[in-house]
Amino acid sequence: MKEFWSEKAKSLTPYTAGEQPRGKMVKLNTNENAYPPSPAVAEAVRRAAEALRLYPDPDARSLCVAIAEYHGVRPQQVFCANGSDEALALCCAAFFQNGTNGADGWFPGVSIPRRVKTPDVGYSFYPVWAELFDVPLEMVPLKEDYSVDVEKMYGGCGMILANPNAPTGVALSISNIEKIIQRTNGVAVVDEAYASFSRATAVPLIDQYRNLAVVRTLSKSHSLAGLRVGYVVADENLIAALRTVKDSFNSYPLDALAQAGAEAAVRDAGYCRKVTEKILKTRAYTVSELEKLGILTLPSEANFVFARFDGPSAEAVFTALRERGVLVRWFSGRRTRDFLRITIGTREEMDTLLSALKEILCK
Ligand code: PMP
Repeated sequence: MKEFWSEKAKSLTPYTAGEQPRGKMVKLNTNENAYPPSPAVAEAVRRAAEALRLYPDPDARSLCVAIAEYHGVRPQQVFCANGSDEALALCCAAFFQNGTNGADGWFPGVSIPRRVKTPDVGYSFYPVWAELFDVPLEMVPLKEDYSVDVEKMYGGCGMILANPNAPTGVALSISNIEKIIQRTNGVAVVDEAYASFSRATAVPLIDQYRNLAVVRTLSKSHSLAGLRVGYVVADENLIAALRTVKDSFNSYPLDALAQAGAEAAVRDAGYCRKVTEKILKTRAYTVSELEKLGILTLPSEANFVFARFDGPSAEAVFTALRERGVLVRWFSGRRTRDFLRITIGTREEMDTLLSALKEILCK
């Protein structure tokens, strides 16, 4: 029943987020950080709550300054949004909507193909926004080894990819990312949701490439998935386009509590580093323990692993794990259906997963 729905609403296939656990389960299905946020966050949120009478700063200036200092860029090169999902949606609207792109004026006289390239497999929200904003996407298949096919990503009127990629966890080197940016006619959006768990970030390239927008989130790196804070780091001209779209849509995307909590988290870099190191250690441990069970994973630079199952099917293992109180993620696509995406939790959570897997596979 879609009575009264617009034609657009009727045509959409919405994104399905990871399932919420019922009762007490080990939740390894949505790549949340295994540890709580810095204690400074709760204190900052409490203080901000006393001033809720006032509207928040629509430009989140104080948070932009903190993020700029964190990355060594200028505050004018930072744009904050309600989670990186919103930041990415605004990028699609500002740079790619209706197949137009920001390249006009930058590449005068060049005839530009109107397709935005994105890897297939990639973050499954991209096609959803593409539908919503009428962005003509060209899905570029991954290589045999599940890495992004760098050369096939060349030549789009725009480009969007996650690095490290999701749900594979496989990362491209920054020199490969740079080659793609150089050969993209419009804006190159690099989604670095998981970059704090990898060796590389494209942020230092923003002064060199005026068509680069790096999207980051505090959900994973700073344990703030519940607060909904993401941001874009880019040349000021791209930031201006994002602000224009944002103000036409909602001039207050970030509430006052989110701004205060996020700033406290970003300023506590030492805490974030310690937590990240623990997760990287647990990732190495998990990979080697899975290997002992004969389960191979793709080389991960994220806070999750993509593990291949070829005895019982990945879907059957997903169900068996769920019955044992462990939630992971299974994707039904042709290239993904033999894998489970498993978030790196605490050492104890991973031990629970590993014993459940032993039980399932040795049955
Ligand atoms: N990009 C990628 C690749 C992701 O996996 C996620 C998390 N689902 C996001 C962006 C969105 O993260 P958030 O909206 O919590 O910042």
